Amino acid sequence: MEHEGFTLWFTGLSGAGKSTIARRVAEVLRARGMKVEVLDGDVIRTNLSKGLGFSKEDRDTNVLRVGWVAEVLSRNGVAAVCALISPYRETREKVRERIPNFVEVFVDAPLDEVIRRDVKGLYKKALAGEIKNFTGISDPYEPPEHPEVVCNTAEETVEESVQKVLDYLESRGWLPSGG
Ligand code: ADP
Repeated sequence: MEHEGFTLWFTGLSGAGKSTIARRVAEVLRARGMKVEVLDGDVIRTNLSKGLGFSKEDRDTNVLRVGWVAEVLSRNGVAAVCALISPYRETREKVRERIPNFVEVFVDAPLDEVIRRDVKGLYKKALAGEIKNFTGISDPYEPPEHPEVVCNTAEETVEESVQKVLDYLESRGWLPSGG
């Protein structure tokens, strides 16, 4: 059966929970028979965007490249699941404008919570001044104004956050029934 493609775009601070929720949602969609491609910021920076840094210009280039791939995938019936900090509102809007079935998921967690988690040990280094241009510490993060879904990961379990995304897809008729 043909599925309608879409792009799920997870944005938020490092350690907010983008990859965790994105991977889990991807599993559910695959189990329901959809073709899914996860485009994870950390992985993208080792291939598609290898060599790009963390200036505003390079971050924008990174986001627009991933947006282009997501556009191509989703118009071919694939669920493109993108997990990128993507800190600049205007750049995310540019991606949104190009993709008809675009779902912005704001993965929100307060800065003190992501510092406490410090999943990759990067906040410690950023706070010590060892990493420059670190989002939330020494570089801006512009939260979405009208995201389709908000996951408050300091207050929700992973399963609850995942369910919010699935509920939204269901409400649009984009969640395959599976089987
Ligand atoms: P990011 O991809 O945004 O950098 P990660 O997904 O790598 O973040 O890490 C998020 C961390 O927060 C994980 O250790 C995860 O288990 C934890 N966490 C706690 N609650 C949630 C939630 N509701 N959703 C997602 N992650 C959560």
